[in-house]
Amino acid sequence: MSAETAPLATPYRTHTCGQLRVDDDGADAKLAGWVHRRRDYGKLIFIDLRDRHGITQVVVDAADAPEAHAEASKVRNEFVIAVEGAVARRQPGTENAKLATGAVELQARRVRILNEAKTPPFYVNDPDAPIDESIRLRYRYLDIRREAMARRLLLRSRLVQAIREAHHAHGFVEVETPNLIKSTPEGARDFIVPSRLQPGTVYALPQSPQQLKQLLMVAGVDRYFQIARCFRDEDLRGDRQPEFTQLDLEMSFVDEDAVRGFIEQMVIEVTRATVPERPIRQIPFPVFEYEDAMERFGSDKPDLRFGVELFDLAPALGASSGFRVFDETLAGGGRVKGITAPGMGGVSRREVDELTELAKRFGARGLVHLSVQPGGELHGPIAKFLSAETQAAVRGAAGASDGDLILVVADKQETTNDVLGRLRNEIAARLGLADPNELAYCWVHHFPMYQWDAEHRRWDATHNPFSGVVPEDEPLLTTLSGDLDVRDPGDPAGRAKAMQYDVALNGWELGGGSVRIWKPDLLARSFNLQGYTVEQMRERFGAILEAFEYGAPPHGGIALGVDRWAALLSFQTNIREVMAFPKTQSGSDLMLEAPSAPDEEQYQELGLRFVGVPEKR
Ligand code: ASP
Repeated sequence: MSAETAPLATPYRTHTCGQLRVDDDGADAKLAGWVHRRRDYGKLIFIDLRDRHGITQVVVDAADAPEAHAEASKVRNEFVIAVEGAVARRQPGTENAKLATGAVELQARRVRILNEAKTPPFYVNDPDAPIDESIRLRYRYLDIRREAMARRLLLRSRLVQAIREAHHAHGFVEVETPNLIKSTPEGARDFIVPSRLQPGTVYALPQSPQQLKQLLMVAGVDRYFQIARCFRDEDLRGDRQPEFTQLDLEMSFVDEDAVRGFIEQMVIEVTRATVPERPIRQIPFPVFEYEDAMERFGSDKPDLRFGVELFDLAPALGASSGFRVFDETLAGGGRVKGITAPGMGGVSRREVDELTELAKRFGARGLVHLSVQPGGELHGPIAKFLSAETQAAVRGAAGASDGDLILVVADKQETTNDVLGRLRNEIAARLGLADPNELAYCWVHHFPMYQWDAEHRRWDATHNPFSGVVPEDEPLLTTLSGDLDVRDPGDPAGRAKAMQYDVALNGWELGGGSVRIWKPDLLARSFNLQGYTVEQMRERFGAILEAFEYGAPPHGGIALGVDRWAALLSFQTNIREVMAFPKTQSGSDLMLEAPSAPDEEQYQELGLRFVGVPEKR
């Protein structure tokens, strides 16, 4: 917990519990806080007094201050107390190097109990105590008293402050957009809020401020940002919450380089301001074409803290390698690719089985393993099918040497890449290849604009329905294959690349955005490819379509996950660890006991009735 520079004195305290130093020796001080720990030696009572700034040792000596001692003997852990006394150096040998205040103590003249506390349901003062997460969430206010949680919330606060400062320094305007809006499509389900004044109608909570920020560009705001709360009704995973926070921004008169240029600069400034001690691996951030990222890392959010890149085995295998599965996969248009696990050649049977099981769980039919022997020979169940020449070619493609393990997947392209990409992360974790301290940011861009949805016979936007097309592919959207209302899988638009970019950090997607389509005719064509009829377009995107008729500037932006960013900067993989009051996997707030049934009056006012569930829970 950091020492504060701002004066935090109040009638209850002259200093915080993290503030006193040797220089204060002899001074009078008043402190207030929670009893972190109390040690009673009869005539002497020691109290570690805690607030979010730190801990100070208080000594109460019955000989010097009998009344204070009597009061101190009543306090228990987590009582709220105020203490007055004199600051003194600790006896030589009793200093506590772990505490910022560890060279001094407060010798109490007066102790006041401000509030008593029940015995907490877990040890607030033991950072290593195993505590069930549901108990932590039920008593989150006690959990946040614990140092680790308090530290993470402080980091998050610094992060948000740095974000604001960086944007203001670059001419951005912070604009708040409403939370009661109409559905904006980000691909998830909306949370809806019934309107009392207009019975039978609902608002949607924003999945993102996407349309509003684009309207702000039409409005001439030029550069907008917002720390925006977004709501998506999805099944929860470790890194998802029904409500979460995005750094949402949009800029006018930009092309892709300009918008990414600012974002990168801002990300660097914010990172340095928030965690100055953590190294950024590479500046400028590496930039990958989407296709290359998939080819080399099997992921559009590659972790660049280690190598272990995917390699293609087709050239080494030729048309008849001797191993049927490889040959048939290649003949059928699939891919045979691999990764090399350095030094894992001597791996146990059990570990190989585990990796194979994992590969199957990730969707592969199987996993081939080959270990490189001294002298270069390959060992493994299928090695006998491969000639010495093929083995040498495989080893060469794998860049493998003595003692390495080659893992191979043969499958459809997407499956091969995806499975190997996940195995790559698994191998790196097992071998400890990533420096946990390092922050490896990178860009992945030029995603395909659309993917064909055979079931609905339409082209789904791969990310954002407003994403623009790279200028050189614009003709692919305007050369129509016949009638505007006919969508077919052969449409040239299927080959178009989007001016869309993601920023990844240590193997996680931190955010994504795009330069938008800002010409109304192109937007109409794009929506049409996505299967929206003119009426549907009007109904869902009417405001933006109309606004675009009044002069839209070229514009683009991004949204970055603030929760995820805060989590990664504080070494967490679960965003709940950086949210003050998160929800559980089933979307419950265990502390407030939400969601809950509406009361009778609310049903009446809203003209609401649930069908198929008991009305009172
Ligand atoms: N609205 C997008 C999202 O929430 C981000 C963007 O394109 O700016 O993912």
